[in-house]
Amino acid sequence: KIQVQDLHKSYGDNEVLKGISLNVKPNEVVCMIGPSGSGKSTFLRCLNKLEEPNSGHVYVDGYDIADKKTNIDLVRQNIGMVFQHFNLFPNMSVAENIMLAPVQLNKMSKEEARTAALHYLDIVGLKDKADVNPTTLSGGQKQRVAIARALAMKPDVMLFDEPTSALDPEMVGDVLEVMQTLAKEGMTMVVVTHEMGFAKRVADRVVFFHDGVIKEQGTPEEIFDHPQQPDTKSFLDKVL
Ligand code: ATP
Ligand code: MG
Repeated sequence: KIQVQDLHKSYGDNEVLKGISLNVKPNEVVCMIGPSGSGKSTFLRCLNKLEEPNSGHVYVDGYDIADKKTNIDLVRQNIGMVFQHFNLFPNMSVAENIMLAPVQLNKMSKEEARTAALHYLDIVGLKDKADVNPTTLSGGQKQRVAIARALAMKPDVMLFDEPTSALDPEMVGDVLEVMQTLAKEGMTMVVVTHEMGFAKRVADRVVFFHDGVIKEQGTPEEIFDHPQQPDTKSFLDKVL
């Protein structure tokens, strides 16, 4: 589904990604952990070409996204992305926020998009909020709307970059629960997270980033219970 080969990315002379290779299989949930500044967000942004890598390859569903002939807009329609900050439009209702992209991109009529919006709001537990303004929602509710908005495009893959790290602690659980449900239903997911409990419970594979490389990867048991690399151990000692 996603194949990354020897990805390099520098900002000026700061080499942030130093040769990352990673494959994500259909239905797989990959959680990425690692210290601040290790390149996790940069890597995620390379997956849908929000960043241009200096070298290496990213294939999404077989399409080389660096290839000028690849229609990146079409590829992006199949990749849902949820960030730390949800960026909902404050001048329209919750449902309208979700309907916007499918309607603008002619994926759905307004009626279809409204039905889809209500369906995905139901999935994230917010059906009763369809017609309110997003500014009236809590952080956790906004983030669940952002997830519903991404799902409404019916993506093949969902990318999450620390979706709960800006939330008040009591909101975190609801958002993680929605993500866990998605994972159970077979969504292919790449999740950058500081929530080690979530990674343990939900990940098929945990990838430890350190200083622009993948230092270690394995099942949650392998990484959390039997880490092999000193850097992995010292990171886990700090966060667990
Ligand atoms: P965190 O856990 O804090 O989110 P991260 O692992 O996501 O960290 P990145 O955001 O990928 O780390 O940043 C990796 C490095 O790249 C950092 O040194 C950062 O300063 C640098 N960097 C990231 N984005 C840019 C940018 N747009 N311009 C210049 N440098 C950048
Ligand atoms: Mg980051």
